[in-house]
Amino acid sequence: MTERRRGAAFPLPLAKVHGAAGRGRDALQPQRLLREASRDARARAAPSGVGLDSAQVRQRMVQRLHAQGIRHEALLRALGSVPRHLFIDSALAAQAYEDTSLPIGHGQTISRPSVVARMLSLLLAGSAARARGGLGKVLEVGTGCGYQCALLAQLADSVVSIERVRDLFDKARAQLAPLRVDRVRLVHGDGMRGHAPNAPYHSIIAAAVGDEPAPAWLEQLAIGGRLIAPVRSGTQQVLAVIDRELHGYRRLDLEPVHFVPLKSGVD
Ligand code: SAH
Repeated sequence: MTERRRGAAFPLPLAKVHGAAGRGRDALQPQRLLREASRDARARAAPSGVGLDSAQVRQRMVQRLHAQGIRHEALLRALGSVPRHLFIDSALAAQAYEDTSLPIGHGQTISRPSVVARMLSLLLAGSAARARGGLGKVLEVGTGCGYQCALLAQLADSVVSIERVRDLFDKARAQLAPLRVDRVRLVHGDGMRGHAPNAPYHSIIAAAVGDEPAPAWLEQLAIGGRLIAPVRSGTQQVLAVIDRELHGYRRLDLEPVHFVPLKSGVD
């Protein structure tokens, strides 16, 4: 009895603290509070899917992109407002605002935020986009989970986005509907053919790599319009920027990239 009372009144030897179990052990570990505090902080930083928490993590992603040279204000605003974590599997949501590509099913991936931001800023620098103060009429090939499409919707007058995998098309449609993304037309089909009914487009962007940009995209590009697409170059892939001028096309190959392959037909 005496022993016990003394034990409660004075700190126990370390060996006893480690040997103790359950609630008693926790009560004897002042560092537990610190552990809890840091765990709570991590939980606050992880995107919970609602409200302020994910907005703050997303804002940090935007700050990183800004530091990497993304300066277009409307693009930064769009990146700060589209909830990327809602477009991916909830098991991966904690990684949603890291600069990484993530699986979206069917062997496909959502591109890294830095690559998406880079491609959209190149598109915004096209001559038709600069003259119009926005992307104008857009064709996106490879809707995937619909994340980039949601960004495009904020920067364009209208967007036609084509996906060849039925299941991804359905999921993107379901995902984009509650976000009230206006001005977007999702098409289930082979994007290598473009979408002639809405042509010509001021901006065309492909999210899958081919040997060359599809001829239909070049045909459906407006004069002054810009096309951004990953293309194979030897064993690598590079980002190709193609501008349609009055009498032809001008192509510039930029940095190496890594995209999933463009496939013909539908699934
Ligand atoms: N921008 C997307 C990235 C998707 S990955 C996102 O934000 O998630 C590329 C997508 O292109 C895949 O979903 C793949 O199914 C699609 N794709 C590949 N070839 C295609 C084609 N010919 N037509 C339409 N979509 C195609």
